[in-house]
Amino acid sequence: MTNPLYDALFAPHEGKTTPFLKLSDGTTVSHGAFLQEVDRTANALVSLGVAPGDRVAVHVIKSRQALALYAACVKSGAVFLPLNTAYTPRELEYFVGDSGAALFVCDPSEEAELRDIAAQTGAQLKTLGANGEGSLTDLVAAQPAAFTPVARDKDDLAALLYTSGTTGRSKGAMLTHENLLSNAKSLVEAWRFTRDDVLLHALPIFHSHGLFVATNVMLLAGGSMIFLPKFDVETVLSRLPEATTMMGVPTFYTRLLDEARFSKDLVAHMRLFISGSAPLLADTHTQFEDRTGHRILERYGMTETSMNTSNPYEGARRAGTVGFPLPGVEAKVCDPETGAELPTGEIGVLWVRGPNVFKGYWQMPEKTREELRDDGFFITGDLSLIDAKGYVHIVGRGKDLIISGGYNIYPKEIELFLDALPNVKESAVIGAPHPDFGESVIAVLVPEDGATIDASAIQEIARRDLAGFKRPRHIEVVAELPRNTMGKVQKNQLREKFAAAFQ
Ligand code: ATP
Ligand code: MG
Repeated sequence: MTNPLYDALFAPHEGKTTPFLKLSDGTTVSHGAFLQEVDRTANALVSLGVAPGDRVAVHVIKSRQALALYAACVKSGAVFLPLNTAYTPRELEYFVGDSGAALFVCDPSEEAELRDIAAQTGAQLKTLGANGEGSLTDLVAAQPAAFTPVARDKDDLAALLYTSGTTGRSKGAMLTHENLLSNAKSLVEAWRFTRDDVLLHALPIFHSHGLFVATNVMLLAGGSMIFLPKFDVETVLSRLPEATTMMGVPTFYTRLLDEARFSKDLVAHMRLFISGSAPLLADTHTQFEDRTGHRILERYGMTETSMNTSNPYEGARRAGTVGFPLPGVEAKVCDPETGAELPTGEIGVLWVRGPNVFKGYWQMPEKTREELRDDGFFITGDLSLIDAKGYVHIVGRGKDLIISGGYNIYPKEIELFLDALPNVKESAVIGAPHPDFGESVIAVLVPEDGATIDASAIQEIARRDLAGFKRPRHIEVVAELPRNTMGKVQKNQLREKFAAAFQ
């Protein structure tokens, strides 16, 4: 009997006293103790009638019990479906209904509110709180700590992960055992993880980054994680001395740089800092190196594919790029209209193929057919170019491309220009409907702390240095850009807010 993901990630650690989770209360959970909890949890799932292939929807605060629930789903053949903690009951109704989940695990505080939704969608409702309390835990505690892994094929689903919903309604990505395992193997090797590593884990575990990139890699390597409920700068500063590596979204790094206590000495012992999920500004990369001597390693992936490309561990980590395709992953840049592969250096849509690429969107056969081709290539929807040295540059999302008077405008080019101007901390460039040009450019600017932005001075510089069609015709100054929990700028919201700027 085999269960590819369980056999590779979890089984080797059964019975071991080696540290796995170092929690915020200072206690440590060994691999062996964690796996006993996994067995109890798997028995609890079976006692609730959860069968192999059933979806288990999970809307809970990050905890060791929540992680054990992921492992228990893998071991019992169920499909783990974690949901963003920020989702409201109205949003949860869609996910639980769409996925046809057999079991819905929520926080005890929202049980009353979600009871109707669970009843309507036919899911059983159980609770799991931030400190492990709840009706699921009560059930788990009464179970035996032994469970035989349920046999699974490499093409069976291990997880159903909904995309972040940055460009539209979230889509359920069907991820198989093979998808997740192949990626974990590539990353352990690419980033040289070993059992001696201690990863500072302050990411959410409802997203591919914290769940698969971080957790699966550490399980495969056999190391341990400082497992924090969220990114709290004080806690991170105090726990960094125990870590060897850290994975984060770009905002983690900018927040650390805002702290004078984040010094070279504090992180001299660290082996590696990794960034992803949103673009890391070249400026942040440089500031980080100036402050600490470490060059952040940026990589690129998505819910549908896990990781596709990474800057090298050895060799030049180039700021503003996401590095090379991982071993086994093919990447090419194609013309958005014809699908023909474009020459080196030209901007088009990135296509990827490899064992990491998902099986399709849950109950969306048409969308799957449009984006996942018969030859195995997945059309990412990200605009990119591959330079002469083979580095992949993500230029933005296809949906963010601005077409003004027939010209293609890549927001990132204008954002980089604006970010470099005095008093500008960061920017987001979007298109809005324009009566003459179809669309025209709006720049949303955030001033440096304590500084003010003079929009007319910016217009003047732009008039001098940017081609007319690229020039922002409207400037908005805001205190901060709207971001989701993964640090992604919500351009949809900006487009809605400033839709009438040229009307
Ligand atoms: P949706 O697909 O629902 O609109 P989403 O694409 O934001 O949401 P995710 O799968 O969480 O959902 O994010 C993947 C996207 O994140 C990629 O397609 C890419 O646009 C962006 N991304 C990830 N890593 C990087 C990176 N290092 N640099 C630039 N963009 C990145
Ligand atoms: Mg996406």
